[in-house]
Amino acid sequence: MNIVLATRNKKKVEEIKRIVKDMPVTIYTLDDFPECPKVEEDGKTFEENAVKKARAVSKYTKMPALADDSGLEVYALDGAPGVFSARYAGEGADDRKDIKNYEKLLKEMNSLPDDKRIGRFVCVIALAFPDSRVETFSGYAEGLIGKKPKGANGFGYDPVFYPKGHGRTFAEMSDKEKDLLSHRGVALGRLYDFLKRGL
Ligand code: IMP
Repeated sequence: MNIVLATRNKKKVEEIKRIVKDMPVTIYTLDDFPECPKVEEDGKTFEENAVKKARAVSKYTKMPALADDSGLEVYALDGAPGVFSARYAGEGADDRKDIKNYEKLLKEMNSLPDDKRIGRFVCVIALAFPDSRVETFSGYAEGLIGKKPKGANGFGYDPVFYPKGHGRTFAEMSDKEKDLLSHRGVALGRLYDFLKRGL
């Protein structure tokens, strides 16, 4: 089976390649299709965005295509930053983007009592086929939002996120530790089971 990953993010590509390394799957990326049009992530849910990206790339390449969308939902903020997680503090890609995003979150949560500082990371992976069939795989990681950043690993909101039952943030954990607890790890596990069943 051939699968195109609807991403140019090297970390995501490596992660998926690790998952399918013992399977008869050949992975392509958008670098193999430089003319593939960019898809706007304007959906209201992670699922809408993942499905839209996977469908567009599958249609263009005429191959099964895999896309994901992820972010952080804080319950007391009605699910914000949600699908806007990557651009919560504004568009643009300067070096401090991740810091600005979690700084804005901490500010928005300033007046919240401790028992309301809860939320979850969400990851939805969509696998679209050229005949328009789509399979989706979701993963969640619940946790507490801290009051100040801790740790230097990971990315995004990791320095302020304490996965449930752990006294350290994702940014204080190794990649391996985070993979076992994370929304992306869970969704990738479900994708793995699906591919294993079908191949
Ligand atoms: P995307 O799925 O690549 O569009 O990323 C969405 C955004 O959600 C990222 O830019 C981060 O701000 C946030 N995010 C998603 N997953 C994680 C995670 O594992 N740790 C920290 N932030 C994350």
